Amino acid sequence: MTLKNIAWKELEDKFSDLVQIRRELHMYPELSFKEVKTPTMIAEFLIGCGLEVRTGVGGRGVTALLRGGKPGKTVALRADFDALPIEDQKEVPYKSRIPGVMHACGHDLHTAALLGTAYSLSKVKEDLEGNVLFIHQFAEEVIPGGAKAMIEDGCLDGVDVVYGAHVQANLPVGMIGWKEEYMMAAGDKFEIRINGKGGHGSMPHLAIDPVLIGSQIVLNLQQIAASRINTTDPAVVTVCSFQGGEQYNVIPDQAVLSGTVRTFSKEARESAEKNIRSIAESACQMAGAECEVIYQYGYPSVWNHPQEAQRVRRLAEMVAGNEKVVQVPLQMPMEDFAYYTIERPGAFFLVGGMNPDIQATYPHHHPKFDVDEQSILQIGKMFISLVLDYFNHSSEQNVSNVVTRSV
Ligand code: MN
Repeated sequence: MTLKNIAWKELEDKFSDLVQIRRELHMYPELSFKEVKTPTMIAEFLIGCGLEVRTGVGGRGVTALLRGGKPGKTVALRADFDALPIEDQKEVPYKSRIPGVMHACGHDLHTAALLGTAYSLSKVKEDLEGNVLFIHQFAEEVIPGGAKAMIEDGCLDGVDVVYGAHVQANLPVGMIGWKEEYMMAAGDKFEIRINGKGGHGSMPHLAIDPVLIGSQIVLNLQQIAASRINTTDPAVVTVCSFQGGEQYNVIPDQAVLSGTVRTFSKEARESAEKNIRSIAESACQMAGAECEVIYQYGYPSVWNHPQEAQRVRRLAEMVAGNEKVVQVPLQMPMEDFAYYTIERPGAFFLVGGMNPDIQATYPHHHPKFDVDEQSILQIGKMFISLVLDYFNHSSEQNVSNVVTRSV
């Protein structure tokens, strides 16, 4: 048997334990930046595998180093472990026991898959020609996220390449999605405060109406994606909240708009911010109102290094079969895996979890979200394959060959 087949077999034999781990996490989910039991359980498992474990990385993260029997490169694998403030409405034995908190994005399953990978590779460590770093990340769901803090705390020191995966509720179980270069959007938040002058609704000429000004701004912001950013470079600007006034006949002093921006390129992101500011400020200035724009950066876009995305594609064809591998379109949600591939070569990929037979058809962040646990094996097999393939081809990993993004 090849090393890969031995490791895969270890993973398959561990599957029922991994399902139990996933279900335990699912029953006792913890919110971002409040994770306590989850990282403790992860650390205990990894210590049990004989790895060098670091806790409290960047706050609440856990890393574990597996030193191979032979010297070589270091491959990092990342999984996130936080849950969401959503009430679990599924009727399953492993339903959340914590009111108002739920693993509605599959991070419980990512964790089980990465633990399974650590277990399997630890069984063959003497034969590994390099090291593997397991990155269990806290707080992916809430900005500023755990990735940045973990990187600042040195979690990528000595790492040559990094991979991450996400289970997908809209991709049938058994399938794997990959993409080169931009994959997931950068997500930013803006707030526009329009300070006008209140008055009687019957005499608007004596007031400076912030509701009217705000309405113009909402419409004008749509010009950004439509005509101010190159239309081949996707961008979304959406106003999701418009607060202003309480009485039907009273013009308020202030109106406040807030919304989200999604972009991929640095140029589009900077242009969106600049245009939001100028559109809001000019509408206010024209009407004699004061304007305040607060623009907060969220995660940057996820950018997959072409060479690593191609490695994902090639290995996915082996794990899932050619016909089950798809090149996915740009994804508008954001993901703080973005920070890792700014620092190191690497790639993020998607693993199918949808299965109508078990009611696993609801979208991410839905109160009935669930995914097929077979995806634990898919993610684990991909991770194992990526590690071994990288070691096998490590002589080809020349820094000068690595294409980098313009950040
Ligand atoms: Mn997620």
